[in-house]
Amino acid sequence: MGLWAAVHAERLGIQTLLVEASHFGQGASGGLLGALMPHMPDKWSDKKQFQLDALVSLEDEITALEAMTGLSAGYRRAGRLIPLPRPHLRQIALGHSRDAEAHWRHGERRFHWHVLDAAPVEDWIDPSLAESGFVYDTLAARVAPRAFLDVLHKFLAGARHVRLAEGATVESLDPDRGLARTNEGDIAFGRAILAAGHRSFPILDELTEGRKSSLGQPVKGQAAMLKADVDSGLPVIFRDGLYIVPHEKGLVAVGSTSENRFDDPMSTDGQLDDLLAAARIMAPVLAGAEVMERWAGLRPKAVDRDPMVGAHPDHPSLIALTGGFKVSFGLAHRLAEAAVREAAGMPCRFKLPLSFTLASHISVISHKT
Ligand SMILES: Cc1cc2nc3c(=O)[nH]c(=O)nc-3n(C[C@H](O)[C@H](O)[C@H](O)COP(=O)(O)OP(=O)(O)OC[C@H]3O[C@@H](n4cnc5c(N)ncnc54)[C@H](O)[C@@H]3O)c2cc1C
Repeated sequence: MGLWAAVHAERLGIQTLLVEASHFGQGASGGLLGALMPHMPDKWSDKKQFQLDALVSLEDEITALEAMTGLSAGYRRAGRLIPLPRPHLRQIALGHSRDAEAHWRHGERRFHWHVLDAAPVEDWIDPSLAESGFVYDTLAARVAPRAFLDVLHKFLAGARHVRLAEGATVESLDPDRGLARTNEGDIAFGRAILAAGHRSFPILDELTEGRKSSLGQPVKGQAAMLKADVDSGLPVIFRDGLYIVPHEKGLVAVGSTSENRFDDPMSTDGQLDDLLAAARIMAPVLAGAEVMERWAGLRPKAVDRDPMVGAHPDHPSLIALTGGFKVSFGLAHRLAEAAVREAAGMPCRFKLPLSFTLASHISVISHKT
């Protein structure tokens, strides 16, 4: 989120310092999965429209940045396969297919929620797990998280208006005096965008009077990377929280756990082993695949589950940019653009859903008993 904000600041010619406690990619964004999963096409809303527009525009954003940096972000609109083990799930899927025809449109482009008897690719999902067929959606995509961060980082390394400061931790913010206190000394600012992942919540809590609970919490996730001899163009598999995401060079990411309570944020355990076992049953071609890496990170989950973006109602020079929870990668470029334009007092060419605003999240926790 922070890297994208800096990219937009550079494009708009805004003098910017991007402060990172450790090194870029240290947080949840430096993981393995990179699935770009659309929301279900039913019950259409301004949030779903925002995500659709973001997912489609990301492709052009990445193409442009790849051309400028000469690096690959490992992006591919590979689609998504969802096995349907029961007849009633097929009926529901047929309804979603009609919803997608109505809503999954972007200019001339159309995306589909096909309901199929057989998978469009062979030797991927075990067909015995899909007795009632498959959903194949053509909107879902994937990106390689670390390669993607490298693209953003390289673009910023050559920036004229943005300076990068790694190894400086913001300890507190005093937005009304325009001061950030860090372990490396104070930084004066006109506007500050806070994009510190889940660590944004305690900083925002501190500055929010009259709240009855925290603005958000970290949710731990575990994932693994396998080395398998599979085609990198295969669709992502999704079923009941299990993601199998093929990447370039035969790498396949498997995730993710979702843990509200945890002792060690960075360790992996038997829950990841269970996911890997489920993945090997779902995609038998992964049976002998070597585990290259096990990884865990903390997602930023805002109190209302939606992203948390925009000026603090009591401290307008502080702009939040966090709360992407499980879908940050597909939204970050658009959320960051809205945050930067708000910080600069410039109109935005698209509207943020109201429930994404920091003000909306604050009103939720102020009314809670
Ligand atoms: C296992 C797992 C799988 C996931 N899979 C997907 C997926 O497939 N698709 C998807 O879209 N999302 C996925 N997510 C969620 C996604 O990774 C997060 O929502 C996203 O990375 C959050 O980005 P962020 O920039 O808000 O936070 P982060 O990436 O955590 O970045 C915050 C940065 O701020 C820095 N920082 C923190 N505090 C301070 C401070 N006080 N001063 C200075 N710097 C500070 C940190 O070091 C960090 O680098 C997954 C998450 C997990 C854990």
